[in-house]
This record gives sequence, C-alpha cells and structure tokens, in this order.
Amino acid sequence: MNVRPILAEYLEYLRDSGVQEQWGPGGPSLTKKEKSAEAAQPLLRLGSLEEVREYLGECTRCKLHAGRTNIVFGVGNPNAKLVFVGEGPGRDEDLQGEPFVGRAGQLLTDIIEKGMKIKRSDVYIANIVKCRPPDNRDPEPDEIASCEPFLRYQLSVIKPKIICALGKFAAQTLLRSNAPISAIRGKVFDYEGIKLIPTFHPAYLLRNPEDKKLVWEDVKKIIAIYNED
Ligand code: SF4
Repeated sequence: MNVRPILAEYLEYLRDSGVQEQWGPGGPSLTKKEKSAEAAQPLLRLGSLEEVREYLGECTRCKLHAGRTNIVFGVGNPNAKLVFVGEGPGRDEDLQGEPFVGRAGQLLTDIIEKGMKIKRSDVYIANIVKCRPPDNRDPEPDEIASCEPFLRYQLSVIKPKIICALGKFAAQTLLRSNAPISAIRGKVFDYEGIKLIPTFHPAYLLRNPEDKKLVWEDVKKIIAIYNED
C-alpha cells in the first residue's frame, strides 16, 4: 500500500498550519538535521492496522498523552465497508480503551445494529484523536495535527466504501470545513476517494432526541451506498 499521497498531503497541511512535524517513534519533534535525513528516506508503508498500532506506540506526540488511561486506537473489522469517525474518547472510552462504549456508544450501537441491521463488529469505529481531552473539551489544532495522520493511516489500510463522520467536530476536521453540521449532515462528500456522510453525534442525539428522525434519513443514505455493488 502506498501512503505517500496521504503523508505528502498531511505534511503540506502541517506546513500550512505552522505545526511542527512530529514523526519519530514516540513523537519528539524533528531537528533540521533529522528532517533532511527523513526527506532522503522512503516514506512509510504501513500495510495493516497492527503496523499502524505498532508505529503509534505508547504515543507522547501531543499533550493529551499526559491525562489518558488508555490509548483508544479504534475497534472493529479491519476490512470494514463502513467506518464511523467520532471526535475523541470520553471517560468510559478512556477507561476501557475502546471507542463509543458509554451512553452515546450504546446509542451508536443501536443505530448500527437496529437501524442499519449490521453487526457492530462488522464496522470499524475510531476517533480524530486517540487520547481523552481533559473535561471532554474539543481537541486543539496541535493535538489534531499530531494524531490525525494515524487515523488517515487506518483509513488507508481499511479502504472502506463509506465513512460516517459523527458530529460537527469530526466532519469539519475531515472535510477541512467550517460549515455547521446542520448544513452538511446527510450530504455525500469525497474523502480521498471514499464517500463520506456526516451526521449528528450520538451524544447530541441524547440531548436532542427530536433530531433522531434526521439521523434516520442519513442512515438510509449510508445503507443505500453500503449495499451498492
Ligand atoms: Fe499520541 Fe494521538 Fe494520544 Fe496525542 S492524542 S498522545 S498524538 S495517540
């Protein structure tokens, strides 16, 4: 698998955002000498989720590592046709090391199993950042810049048919957009050749159950694409 376009695009994003590159194992920032040495080497080729997890290691690439109990790497079928991407781990996820296991996670499981008629174990679930932000605050730009490449590696290995971005934060991050979730939910976007549909985050639905009918509309679109030949 060639991840060169992903890495090249990401390094361009880092340059544009003024964030330092942090690609050494464990994540220390690269010196100028190291950067020129890295530039002379072939780019990474990660062919499996196990290799991505190994490369992530006991990651300290951003400040979120300080408060975590567990890295929440992602869970599910490595050959999933459908991947859900959320924002970041909450308290339950941090404690258990698995994404979407709290109340919002139960609702997501119901959406997948009762709504879509797919087993949760047949999809893949991950987040934009893999360590819990303190007090469940939004991840900050430097944290996203450090962590998102690993999500990109995961997606490039899984090669799903469709991604469902859960909530404003995941949708805006993946689409590099400031558009409100209410304006983009249910629309089909292209994410590096993969169809991407944003919908409301299950935690939002717990607070606003009247919007479940909108998510049902989005679910029907996702399933139609999922079942296409
Ligand atoms: Fe590493 Fe991601 Fe955790 Fe930051 S959030 S320490 S980049 S695994």
